[in-house]
This record gives sequence, C-alpha cells and structure tokens, in this order.
Amino acid sequence: MEKLSSQELVQLEDRFGAHNYHPLPVVLSRGKGVHVWDVEGKQYFDFLSAYSAVNQGHCHPKIVDALIEQAQTLTLTSRAFYNDSLGVYEQFITHYFGFDKVLPMNTGAEAVETAIKLARKWGYEKRGIAENQAQIVVCEGNFHGRTTTIISFSNDPDANKNFGPFTPGFIRIPYNDTKALEAALQQPNVVGFLVEPIQGEAGVFVPEEGYLATSKALCEKANVLFIADEVQTGIARTGKLLAVDHENVKPDILILGKAVSGGVYPVSAVLANDEIMMVIKPGQHGSTFGGNPLAAKVAIAALEVVRDEELADNAERLGTIFRAEMNRIIESTDLVVTVRGKGLLNAIIINDTPESKTAWNLCIQMKDNGLLAKPTHGNIIRFAPPLVMTEEQLMECVAIIEKTIREYTA
Ligand SMILES: *Cc1c(COP(=O)(O)O)cnc(C)c1O
Repeated sequence: MEKLSSQELVQLEDRFGAHNYHPLPVVLSRGKGVHVWDVEGKQYFDFLSAYSAVNQGHCHPKIVDALIEQAQTLTLTSRAFYNDSLGVYEQFITHYFGFDKVLPMNTGAEAVETAIKLARKWGYEKRGIAENQAQIVVCEGNFHGRTTTIISFSNDPDANKNFGPFTPGFIRIPYNDTKALEAALQQPNVVGFLVEPIQGEAGVFVPEEGYLATSKALCEKANVLFIADEVQTGIARTGKLLAVDHENVKPDILILGKAVSGGVYPVSAVLANDEIMMVIKPGQHGSTFGGNPLAAKVAIAALEVVRDEELADNAERLGTIFRAEMNRIIESTDLVVTVRGKGLLNAIIINDTPESKTAWNLCIQMKDNGLLAKPTHGNIIRFAPPLVMTEEQLMECVAIIEKTIREYTA
C-alpha cells in the first residue's frame, strides 16, 4: 500500500470525517512512552497524553501484552453470560480504590450518565424523593462529556447550542464556592453534587484548599451524594491516586475513565458502596461492551503499572519542578501570566484575550520545536505529559517550552 503524507491524511479526515474537532496539524503514526512520531518520522514529546488517558505512556508493554493475550482468547461475551475475567477485575478495582462495588462501562460520558442514574434512583428509593423530582447540583464551567443529558447542564455554548431540548433536574452553581453549595443543598429534592476535583477542560482550575473536604462535609450533613468525576484527574495524574486524596475525601460515587486502560481501550468505571450501588437491579442499566474480558484484563494491567511504577509519586515530584520552572520563565516574559495545576495536570495562561490566536500559534511553534500541547478555552495551554516521564526528559521539555516562548513572534 502506498504511504500517504501528513497533508494527504489531513485532507482525508477533512473530506470524509465530520468536522467535530479542530486538531493541531500533526499526523501521528507511532507512540512509545512519552514520545510520539508523525508520518514523516519527526519525534515529539506528547504533552497532552490523550487528555490524560495515556498516563502510563504510549503502548506500555505490560498493558499491550495483556491486550494481545486476551484478544487471542476471548474478547466479548456480553453480560448475558459470566466470563472468567470480569469478577477478577471487579475484585481488583474495588480493592484498589476501596469501594464495595463497581459498575463497568466504556467511555467517561457513559460513566457520568451511570452516576447520574444511580444518584437519582438512590434518591427515590433510599430518601423517598417524589417521582421525577430529583435534583443534582453541578458547577459552572463543568465538563463531564458529550451526551444529551450531560450537555444539558453545561454552560459552554459550544457544547449545548442548538442541541436542546435539555434534560431537567440540575442546579448549576459557581465552582469553588462552598457558600453557593450550602445554599443549593437547602433546595428540595437534591440527591447529589457532581464535581470535578480540578476542572480540566475549563482550563485546569484548581479550587481552594479545603473546597473538596468542605463540600463533602456539607453533602454528608444534607444526606446528599458527593459524586467525584475523576475521569481526567484520577489515576495518579495530580500526584495522588485520586485528586480527592489531596484532601482525604472519599466520594460516595467515584467516576473513572481515560487512564483506567492506559489509553489502550475504552474502559470506564463507577464505584460506590452497596447501600448505593445495590439500588440498580438486573435489566435497569448496562452496556453490551461494559466489563468485557478484554477491558477487564487491560484495566488490571494498566492499574498495576500505576502502582508498580509509582506514577503518583513521580507526577507529584515532576509537577513541583515543572511549575517552578514555568514560574521562572514567567518572571522574564510578558507572554505568560500564570502557571497553575497539581501533579502533572498543569496549564499556563497566555497574556492575551480568549479570542486571540496566541495560544494556538504558540502550540504550532512548540510542535515545530518537538512538543505537542493544545490550547483549551482560547488563551490557556494545558500541559499533561505521560506520568512515566523522567526528570531529564521533563527538563528537555521545559527547554522547548522556554525556547518557544522566547522566540515567539505573532
Ligand atoms: C474526558 C472527560 C469526560 C468524558 O469522557 P469520554 O470518554 O470522552 O466520554 C468526562 N469527565 C471528565 C472530567 C473528562 O475529562
């Protein structure tokens, strides 16, 4: 088969694919650890990690081996029958995160949907909420996925404009505002508070210290479920296994996705204790692919890598170095205003309007210099490399970022 150039491959996507993304103009054909290569063979540091799905690094051999072995044995049974991988995985992941039970799904959005359904059903059956009256509190600037219900409570016009009518039953309050939460919890029929411990898509907004712990305490007092969406922040990304661990908070419902599989296969999970999870009975929720043997084996391997390679500690250590280096650069440039983040989930804020092309142009120039990152919400650039990065590699990346900022011309 004739090998297509980057330009030809971009044209194919443009012509035959829906235009629901606006990628940076780079066409990748290989990945290994912290690196990816384009069709022409140029090497890059990946500073997005597929939105934190590839925390364990590209094509981690242990995860790929698990995939290959299981793919040659049994891939899908559906949940009409038992299989010899699912129970083992369920025991593994519930012990790993400390919950009674898991409900396996595939994508992050599906796991969020699952958590919403679970919270509502719990509200009706355990709290005696009147039928169809359950409310879930969510935050401004949230990103929880792309389904119709989830975009119903988004305040991003790109996410919801002309996609109505919307699903009711959500109360939106400002993020990082426990007073607003306290007030919202006074409203009738509130069953859950759905929150990202750090708002990733919104631009890596880190709430004030104590926000999560106080929110959890307020929820407990009001007998409302604290639902943590850790699809992006979980699995060692922020320097702890979960971002809620920074404040020793245990969610009532934990939502995981992305790095649960190390980016090898779509795997998501909802974890909760029996009192909540057991409200769902056979036939009331599910997914054909959810909990399939391939997903189960891949997820076990991916979570073992996180533990065995101590990725949380590495993210914590390198994140501190990275922010210190960014702050050093910020002191001598007008182009960057702030760096913020936790562990290896960070962002820099560019000194320009959200409508400007500056962040995009910087990302293009970083790409030319061998590092891939993407703007989020205009003037913010998210930096989230694989967590298997070494300090030496990180310093190479800092040098690329610094060189790009110093040489930047609009
Ligand atoms: C990516 C993401 C989702 C959605 O996951 P998909 O697999 O894309 O459906 C949900 N919540 C958060 C916080 C995310 O970052």
